[in-house]
Amino acid sequence: MAACIFCKIIRGEIPALKIFESEKTLAFLDIGPLSKGHSLIIPKYHGAKLHDIPDDQLSEVLSVAKKIALAQNLENYNLLQNNGRIAHQVVDHVHFHVIPKPNETEGLGISWPTK
Ligand code: 5GP
Repeated sequence: MAACIFCKIIRGEIPALKIFESEKTLAFLDIGPLSKGHSLIIPKYHGAKLHDIPDDQLSEVLSVAKKIALAQNLENYNLLQNNGRIAHQVVDHVHFHVIPKPNETEGLGISWPTK
């Protein structure tokens, strides 16, 4: 879809830090991470909500989420997918968040701007 920001990332029209890509699936780092390593997994097929995407286009998502968790050696993380504004969806292209939840020893791993 021409105006969709995630379709633009798929087409390489805007930059992203890509961490996995296949024919059906793309994963990249979130531009506004809630924790270090916060990433997004998207089907390349454009649809706003989960029920808009054919099953076969979603078939790799869980295995990619597992790869991301294993690659980062994560013990604690959320796999999250929002549908609709009330459910806090902002980008209308289905995406799955992998959000590391580091423990107190690990810390958040990121520094927020002070100004
Ligand atoms: P939602 O609230 O729709 O589930 O989450 C959308 C996510 O997309 C947010 O975490 C936001 O930071 C991320 N995001 C929005 N625009 C961009 C972008 O242009 N590049 C990247 N990498 N992430 C984006």
